[in-house]
Amino acid sequence: SKFVYFFGKDVTDGKASMRDLLGGKGAGLAEMANLGIPVPPGFTITTEVCVLYLKGKKYSDEVLTQVEEAIDKLETLNNKKLGDPEDPLLVSVRSGARVSMPGMMDTVLNLGLTDKSVFGLANKVNDERFAYDCYRRFISMFGDVVLGIDFDKFESLIEDKKKELKVESDTDLDAKALKDLAERFKGVIKLEKGFDFPQDPKVQLQMAIDAVFDSWNNPRAITYRKLNEIDDSWGTAVNVQTMVYGNRGNTSGTGVAFTRNPSTGEKKFFGEYLINAQGEDVVAGIRTPDFIDTLGNKIPEAYNQLVDICGKLEDHFKDMQDIEFTIQEGKLYMLQTRTGKRTAASAVKLATDMVAEGLIDKETAVTRVKAEHIDLLLHPRIDPNAKLEVIAKGLPASPGAAVGKVVFTAEAAEEMAEKGEKTILVRTETSPEDIGGMAAAQGVLTVRGGMTSHAAVVGRGMGKPCVVGCGDISIDIKSGLFMVNGHTIKEHDYVTIDGSTGSVIIGKVELIDAEISDDLKKILLWADDIRTLGVRTNADNPADAGLARELGAEGIGLCRTEHMFFGEDRIPAVREMIMAEDEKSRKKALKKLLPMQKEDFLGIFRSMEGLPVTIRLLDPPLHEFLPDKEELDAKLRELEVSGDCGKIDEVKKVIKRVVSLKELNPMLGHRGCRLGITYPEIYDMQVRAIMEAACELTNEGMQIVPEIMIPLVGLVKELSITREEVCKMAETVMAEKGVKIDYKVGTMIELPRAAIVADQIAQEADFFSFGTNDLTQTTFGFSRDDVSKFVPIYQKAGILEHDPFAVLDQEGVGEIMKIGISKGRSVKPDLKMGICGEHGGEPRSIHFAHEIGLNYVSCSPYRVPIARLVAAQSTI
Ligand code: ADP
Ligand code: MG
Ligand code: MG
Repeated sequence: SKFVYFFGKDVTDGKASMRDLLGGKGAGLAEMANLGIPVPPGFTITTEVCVLYLKGKKYSDEVLTQVEEAIDKLETLNNKKLGDPEDPLLVSVRSGARVSMPGMMDTVLNLGLTDKSVFGLANKVNDERFAYDCYRRFISMFGDVVLGIDFDKFESLIEDKKKELKVESDTDLDAKALKDLAERFKGVIKLEKGFDFPQDPKVQLQMAIDAVFDSWNNPRAITYRKLNEIDDSWGTAVNVQTMVYGNRGNTSGTGVAFTRNPSTGEKKFFGEYLINAQGEDVVAGIRTPDFIDTLGNKIPEAYNQLVDICGKLEDHFKDMQDIEFTIQEGKLYMLQTRTGKRTAASAVKLATDMVAEGLIDKETAVTRVKAEHIDLLLHPRIDPNAKLEVIAKGLPASPGAAVGKVVFTAEAAEEMAEKGEKTILVRTETSPEDIGGMAAAQGVLTVRGGMTSHAAVVGRGMGKPCVVGCGDISIDIKSGLFMVNGHTIKEHDYVTIDGSTGSVIIGKVELIDAEISDDLKKILLWADDIRTLGVRTNADNPADAGLARELGAEGIGLCRTEHMFFGEDRIPAVREMIMAEDEKSRKKALKKLLPMQKEDFLGIFRSMEGLPVTIRLLDPPLHEFLPDKEELDAKLRELEVSGDCGKIDEVKKVIKRVVSLKELNPMLGHRGCRLGITYPEIYDMQVRAIMEAACELTNEGMQIVPEIMIPLVGLVKELSITREEVCKMAETVMAEKGVKIDYKVGTMIELPRAAIVADQIAQEADFFSFGTNDLTQTTFGFSRDDVSKFVPIYQKAGILEHDPFAVLDQEGVGEIMKIGISKGRSVKPDLKMGICGEHGGEPRSIHFAHEIGLNYVSCSPYRVPIARLVAAQSTI
């Protein structure tokens, strides 16, 4: 079989669709070569070889032969030989996994140089400085990437040299200095590893290839994969590519760019470059790069060609591209193209713009925006009217506002996060070692680096607000502070950063809710046209209902009535009802509650006019509405001291009731329809409130669609008895008001038994709503309130992948739902069914709801737009 794929003008084996095998970089290089775009020739060793190598740490003869053949071919094409003392072929060795993992795997440039061939190179191009610049870079990269020597060991020698010669920049070092550095670097290797820097290019190449494969399992790569849910078994490909040189003087350079602005989505070429530099220099932040616009003045021909190629790449890939290029003495070479990472705002703008341009269709646009993007866009930002003390400005690298306590190390950010503390990670620059800390922090602030620096790229990828290149800051880690423009900020002081403007603000700034842009509205309307799954909301007050409706909810899937009982003005009446010793006094208390409940429903019905409103009758056990026993005991002691006898008796009575209502397992106790059956007057009051409100509004000419839902049914008789009671009351109220309303009575399916006897239950129900919170609780036998004690441990041990209360357990709970659905529909084929647990707003669970044929999901208002998008994506 084929393990090595060649690329270059007229000789390319691979193509874009072979990304799994060739990795993203290899597939992109192959596709560019196929499109006739100038790419230095090279070859890709497949991810399959990586997987095989990592198993046995060796290669089959077939692989070795194919690599050998590819090297021969590369030598022939370039008319140069590896290690040729007169005119050596130099290559880069680059990793490239299926999905891009920024900064994870390292690249070695200028491979093939030796003590002998460096002379040849110098003579050939008649530039000794250039040759030694390449050589010292190669030795240090080889030392770092392949041999695992700390890069600072080399870096500090460069700094020493610059000090010694009193120069500022690497480019000021002359041939002699670079030659000396190369010697010293070899000395570092000898000292650190105990062997000499290898002088055989074939050995160099083999070691570099092994190192790239091995780097798949370095801790940084493993962390990145975990954070991004990338499969550990994929492996990386290796690309061996002919070197081109951006460090050949002032008509040479190197850069990275995006075909459009990855931060805002604006259709404008966006990037940075450095004249007379090699690849890594731009991202490493050694010199501050220039904005791409100015390249047109310096090397116009190459710049125009670059702009053309960007257009060609977008037309071909139909998406924004992230590219790397090098210009060697005026001639442009493309070194990479991939789909550009983008912020949430830019994802939305790119998708709508590209539909307008006719580049993609609406379905594609809907898939281009991710649930996380919407989540971010709905995240808070800085109040535009807030008074801010801006202490510095950096580059706005990843939008959104973040507030937190200053920390200076990734470890500190992680430790604080474990304690539930919010932090802003402040670093000179970030490196792959900081990824865990970046994920743990609210935001990232760096002193050095540009819009394509590590912090910027990773920040955007994670959706972390990020301000980079804030050069006014000087960090003093030893004293635990940073100074900026006359301010001293200590570790654990609050700062706020705004990744959309680059502002660094002193203190804790109030953030405000985001609003939905016109572009996002467009995407969501397209999603509405595409999806078949309905989206409702969970809301129990008019404000939430109104907000959800604005965000696109098509009704209420769950209105919890108990929240209405907790209102300050109601608690006395609710308590009176609970304390009642007989039906008569209970009814008296309920009478006080009736107008208040009715008021609630009037508000909710009004804000959902014309749309269905599912109201769940009281569910929680009554003791939840009584004061805490300890509180009561304390009060009693107080009263005993002051000797207020009348009140003492009253408090004692309450304590007695609290004790008598106390349950060992309230979740499995006297709640839901059990309560409705033992105290029918409670549900009577609620139904009266619902129906009176509905009738009155109907009389005003509104269309009201009430759906009354009975909770925690497990036995069909529970439902039939309650339903009869509900209908009796509804009919009474309608007769009183002289209106007919098409109301429905349905049930929650939230006990495994209910799902299993769903055919019986369906006889009595107009609709089903899967209450997946309780269904998860009762299926697993996990108490929802106590899972934090063991679920995280289960996840670490690999017993559970996700917290089942966050991500629906399709295998268990999902299977029970399927039983409920098919049994229910076996009796009533058109029975409307939805899901109203927390899962209703979780993307994977929404996909699942679509697949198993539910009619709608219901989720909290802010998740409604996410549900609309994901529901549409489920059909595509
Ligand atoms: P990363 O995935 O970290 O970007 P790359 O393999 O893309 O790593 O390479 C790092 C840098 O080296 C990039 O700027 C790239 O353009 C440059 N580079 C890689 N191969 C070559 C080459 N053959 N000639 C010149 N520059 C190269
Ligand atoms: Mg790199
Ligand atoms: Mg790259």
